[in-house]
Amino acid sequence: MYNKISPSIQERIVQIVGSNNTITDERLEDYSHDMTEDFKFPPEIVVKPENAEQIAKILKLANEERIPVTPIGARTGLSGGMLCVYGGIGLSLEKLNKIIHIDTDNLQATVEPGVITENLQKAVEKFGLYYPPDPSSKGSCFIGGNVAENAGGAHAVKYGTTKDFILNLQVVLPNGEIIHTGANTLKNSTGYSLTQLMLGSEGTLGIITQITVKLIPYPIYRLLLKANFVSPFDACRAVSQIFHAKITPSALEFMEKDAIDFGQNYLQSFLDDTTHLGGQLLIEVDGNHLDSLYLDIEKIYEVLKHFELVSEPILADTHDKQEAIWRLRRCLGHAVKGTTIYKEEDTVVPRAKLAELLNFVKKTGKKYGFQSVCYGHAGDGNLHINIIKNQLDELTWKEIIPKKAIPEIFYFTKQLGGTLSGEHGIGWVQKDYMPIAFNEIEINLMKGIKKLFDPNLILNPSKIFNF
Ligand SMILES: Cc1cc2nc3c(=O)[nH]c(=O)nc-3n(C[C@H](O)[C@H](O)[C@H](O)COP(=O)(O)OP(=O)(O)OC[C@H]3O[C@@H](n4cnc5c(N)ncnc54)[C@H](O)[C@@H]3O)c2cc1C
Repeated sequence: MYNKISPSIQERIVQIVGSNNTITDERLEDYSHDMTEDFKFPPEIVVKPENAEQIAKILKLANEERIPVTPIGARTGLSGGMLCVYGGIGLSLEKLNKIIHIDTDNLQATVEPGVITENLQKAVEKFGLYYPPDPSSKGSCFIGGNVAENAGGAHAVKYGTTKDFILNLQVVLPNGEIIHTGANTLKNSTGYSLTQLMLGSEGTLGIITQITVKLIPYPIYRLLLKANFVSPFDACRAVSQIFHAKITPSALEFMEKDAIDFGQNYLQSFLDDTTHLGGQLLIEVDGNHLDSLYLDIEKIYEVLKHFELVSEPILADTHDKQEAIWRLRRCLGHAVKGTTIYKEEDTVVPRAKLAELLNFVKKTGKKYGFQSVCYGHAGDGNLHINIIKNQLDELTWKEIIPKKAIPEIFYFTKQLGGTLSGEHGIGWVQKDYMPIAFNEIEINLMKGIKKLFDPNLILNPSKIFNF
């Protein structure tokens, strides 16, 4: 279906981006994987274009020659979206890394896709502005990757995910045409939203080359409460009770005991005695009036009184105390992924159903004999389920877990009103489960959109669904 890169095509690629912006040697290995399990698929060539025009020329050439092209961001993805499964061209966005303009009159910023998310946040903070979407990988992932995955993060519960902050995109289509998807306006009811179509499209419809984001004023104060529950299910039940008390936390995160153990061992910092601890909630409120935040905290204390806690909740009221707590939460991905063989699911349910989902995961673990380490953005009903290989034999790991245990979890998630992925995307590893989330009519609509954008299926092939 696809052609290999011949010496003459390679020469034409080099003419477009320059030899200093291509890789064909052992450094291809660096671009063969993201953070998804241990999958590796090296591209035949990595190109690092410096602008949209070069990308347009590469795509035009690839489209004519039927060469697959895979957009590559910072390679922190957790669903294998940047894996170059057919080889071809790995198109790295790392050189498009400029913050083009911070518009303090209109509270917007226009950036290139290779800007590290945290760098954008720090740059706008200097103007008292805030870009809230903050995946735990914010220190390394790119904003372009965030758009492609519709990334979330701890503060999505109050502010929303990436999709809620994108106003306009410049995109290079698979045939090399360059388009803009919207306007730099807060409102837009002009035709279909091509902007939202690109959000979460995982590099299958076009390459995002410029992004205009919405900003908001930076909240002056933050208070963070850490509550240690005896039962992890109680911790999950408390989540919707906090909203019942008319509080909208700026973050509401859940970690079960095993997750905290992983994190503390990874950091070699043992802030919590986990002997009697079943699960922990981090509950943050933010705003411009400290008095009213303390009132919120009092209301949250009232909610927590109805649950059995291991100890009094801890209030972190300074930046340093808060960072010490957040450090553990943010390291969990690395703590689990760096020290185990694992499969991660990114289930999301209506938040009041979180305890039921967790309970089902634990029951499924007992049935199939696996340990699961669960944590996530509880305020969004988003539970990251890390299934750990431990001593499981190869048959169980490669056949029974993916073909029986995981589908059972996904079917139950769907039954609860939820879906497969809250923020990590479908990519390469979850695509076989799409029929659990969508019926044939729905999947065919999506495939029709893909074919409209990319009739020759050259862009990030074999992601989201099979053709
Ligand atoms: C420790 C850890 C913690 C994480 N925490 C979170 C979290 O809290 N919330 C969350 O949502 N995610 C989280 N992630 C997942 C990951 O960081 C996000 O999915 C992130 O958005 C990926 O960005 P990236 O630049 O690394 O993209 P990559 O992994 O390089 O690519 C991801 C996908 O985007 C496509 N792509 C990249 N750039 C472009 C572009 N310019 N145009 C078109 N397509 C493009 C790729 O083809 C691929 O399909 C975490 C990952 C790790 C390792």
